[in-house]
Amino acid sequence: MQCPNCQREVPDTAKVCGYCGTRLQSAAPTFETLQVTAEEPALGEITTESSARSNAKTTPWWVWTLPVAAVGLLMVICCCLLLAYFYYQS
Ligand SMILES: [Zn+2]
Repeated sequence: MQCPNCQREVPDTAKVCGYCGTRLQSAAPTFETLQVTAEEPALGEITTESSARSNAKTTPWWVWTLPVAAVGLLMVICCCLLLAYFYYQS
């Protein structure tokens, strides 16, 4: 490839021109890929953060267990009261 600054022929694998030290275009994609790879863990962090947030948003166990237990207890008490009512009525 040709150096955009000094127009000299430099190897395609060269990231910097050996003649003038200019950063070559081939270095740009590697920089972008580096940026992408650097963004990937950030995205992973975001997803883990979002999942942690969703986990935090998912209500704790007692929010579901307490009403269910309360309703169950209420039903048991109602059944006992009904049984007692019918037992004493007969
Ligand atoms: Zn050059």
